[in-house]
Amino acid sequence: MGDKDLITRLDNRLDQLVKIDMGERGVEHLFEAARALQGESLVGAAADALMAVPEGGTVVLTTGSVSRAWITTDLGENDGPSGAAAIARALVLARNVTCVMVCEETLLPAIRNTCQAAGLFPVTLEQAAIAKADKSLATIVMIPYATDDETGKAQAVQMLDELQPDLMFSTERVGRNEFGVYHSMKGIDYGMGRARVDFLFDLALERGIPVVAVGDGGNEIGMGKVADHVKAHVPYGDTCQCGCGGGIGAVTGCDVLVTAACSNWGCTAIAAAMAARAGNSKLLHTPEREALLLDTMVANGLINSTHGIVDDSVDGFPRNSHIAVAELCRTIVSRAL
Ligand SMILES: [Zn+2]
Repeated sequence: MGDKDLITRLDNRLDQLVKIDMGERGVEHLFEAARALQGESLVGAAADALMAVPEGGTVVLTTGSVSRAWITTDLGENDGPSGAAAIARALVLARNVTCVMVCEETLLPAIRNTCQAAGLFPVTLEQAAIAKADKSLATIVMIPYATDDETGKAQAVQMLDELQPDLMFSTERVGRNEFGVYHSMKGIDYGMGRARVDFLFDLALERGIPVVAVGDGGNEIGMGKVADHVKAHVPYGDTCQCGCGGGIGAVTGCDVLVTAACSNWGCTAIAAAMAARAGNSKLLHTPEREALLLDTMVANGLINSTHGIVDDSVDGFPRNSHIAVAELCRTIVSRAL
């Protein structure tokens, strides 16, 4: 572990980098609110929680946002998967953890292939146990999650009973509002074909399992922690366009919330903070790997949701901005590596 004061300074710099609201989403307000509640660096608190997972433990992760669900539920967006893959990779390398990724069956192939490009070979739970015991392979376990409320609630009980996870991690995973509706950033109901993973996270919170969540818009799992601020500062935070009577804010909260201008950037920063804590550059999400994952996501048909096209811009930010964020995160923590 590095010098504690140095780590705190690096954490704060990572926070400052990824909170810059280049997408004009009102996310800086959410950062200030989350930061006040946390009382310390958001990125640092997330990295602390992830590094506190016991060696050989189990972490459940989720990401994946069905995009244009009213056209097809086969299409997912490219903010989320690369960040989740970066965090899973860092967890496996740092703590020899079994990472279980849950998402829609429809998005599973694309997210699986993104994780594989990040170095994690997809296996079953039984195979992951073998790999963990002899440390011979970095793995990921992919589990499809139900897309209706009742099955989603039942699957939550079954999964937490079976897996007994040490921590839950969510990035860019839309959660329902107080009326049970899943909204896009534009306030449109796009819950069709969407996995009800928020019920899994609600139950985890009830059971006292630590939950770390990353978001950039207010409609994601974890944002329940700053619900009043989502209502006040985010477009459609107060009133959606679907007529349900609520706003886009997700009701599901979390223990540690990381807000960023782009959820993938939040994950890149968290991986860097993990690397700084471990003094291990292998935990970094490098610019080179970000480039590879951007290409992988294009090849797997994940969409740049801002422009409505499959390309290597994410949330409307061009390719080089994501590679640059990874480079800057690496530069910020280089003093601890
Ligand atoms: Zn609505």
